[in-house]
Amino acid sequence: MTTLRELLRDTAGFAADFLDGLDTRPVPVNAGVAELRGRLWYELTDEPTEPSQVIGELVRDADPGLLGSSGGRFFGWVIGGSVPAALAADWLTSAWDQNAALYSCAPAEAVVEEVCGVWLKDLLGLPEQASFALVTGSQMGHVTALAAARNKLLAERDWDVERRGLAGAPALRIITGGQQHGSIDRAVRLLGVGTEAITTVAASADGRLDVNVLAGYLKAVDGPTIVCLQAGEINTGSFDDFDEACRIAHDYGAWVHVDGAYGLWAAASRRHRHLVAGIENADSWVTDAHKWLNVPFDCGLVFTAHPAHHRAALSITASYLIHAADPEADTPPRDQIDYNPEWSRRGRGFAVYAAIRSLGRSGIAKIIDDCCTHARRLTAAIGTLPGVEIVHEPQLNQGLVRFIDRDGADRTDRVVDRVQHNGTAWFGATTFNGQRAMRISVVSHRTTELDVDRTIEAVATALTEIDRS
Ligand SMILES: *Cc1c(COP(=O)(O)O)cnc(C)c1O
Repeated sequence: MTTLRELLRDTAGFAADFLDGLDTRPVPVNAGVAELRGRLWYELTDEPTEPSQVIGELVRDADPGLLGSSGGRFFGWVIGGSVPAALAADWLTSAWDQNAALYSCAPAEAVVEEVCGVWLKDLLGLPEQASFALVTGSQMGHVTALAAARNKLLAERDWDVERRGLAGAPALRIITGGQQHGSIDRAVRLLGVGTEAITTVAASADGRLDVNVLAGYLKAVDGPTIVCLQAGEINTGSFDDFDEACRIAHDYGAWVHVDGAYGLWAAASRRHRHLVAGIENADSWVTDAHKWLNVPFDCGLVFTAHPAHHRAALSITASYLIHAADPEADTPPRDQIDYNPEWSRRGRGFAVYAAIRSLGRSGIAKIIDDCCTHARRLTAAIGTLPGVEIVHEPQLNQGLVRFIDRDGADRTDRVVDRVQHNGTAWFGATTFNGQRAMRISVVSHRTTELDVDRTIEAVATALTEIDRS
């Protein structure tokens, strides 16, 4: 029988083996769902199984189904890696197993989140008084922020939405630039507002929400309105005109919400901060720590400029809860449950705290800047290959290219498949302005110059192979 200490030591070895192997193992998975079901299916037994056997077999059986998305040559979706201190703190989080719902059941975690809140607002250039919550991801960040918005906009119209719900309430309207991430639509659905309430403002040629059209919409209908802006659109990484859009929206009493799932991190880099100019004037902001801060999944961040409404929308009182109080402290401790949509929850502050401390301002800025440099070089170099057209030059860390054959027909999907199949690098495809395009998304601290070289070579090889076949 292995002791707990031996089990954890062995497990640390398995984890390190996996991470060390990321440089040499193929990036894609090399098993289909049938094989994975075959490997991972065991008859449910009455008898227990030795933990060391369970872990050993899990490592063996899961391996071909593990995507190399935490490695340096993965450029699909927007998926970051994990910086070492964040990974280590995440292990401790599981070992400590604190329920981070309340100060009283996880005091150290509650204070770590307070500290993270201060650091994050500083790094992201958000107002010092903003309320915040560490949630599962941007998806629940949107739900939280829009619930706060709903509370405020309806309270201003003498409607207590927390008590009365939406039936009979003044109709909420959501204005977006039309390229919003699907998580905004789902937040609108979950909040009972419904996607029919979404009005799309045509984007101008550069992909930004057209502020003149926005002004027209706001003028035409007088009612509770949320304007959703983007810091980093998913295909192109484009940024809305925050200064002007916030000024116009506030003239009409609207709430401005910013989806900055990865793009808000531009604020942490001196070189890229200009992209988010004026963002501090919004009413709520969402970003992910599991994207560009490179902490393990799952960790999203939400902030609002209206703490009382944030709290009114989320907070809970129940007779058995012990709410934060410490007679010795000047300011009472913070109960996370007052700002979070979850009840029991993982202490996800520890990994964020460890990531920020280990990197410092300069380390965070370096991850942002390096990823952007790599994205530009990948796009430019792939763009010089035969039959490649650059659809979008990265403004930040997202580029788009398309592949055309000798007859002028699109072969982007074939090239993406071939690159994935060859195993050195991984890209995904998208449809942008009606055309297929390959997304070049660089979000990991692990990506090096050498990874970029190897990737450019891998795309060139894929093109040669397709031409030959
Ligand atoms: C990833 C992403 C989301 C969703 O974030 P989750 O953390 O996966 O919930 C929303 N918006 C944008 C722009 C994104 O890139």
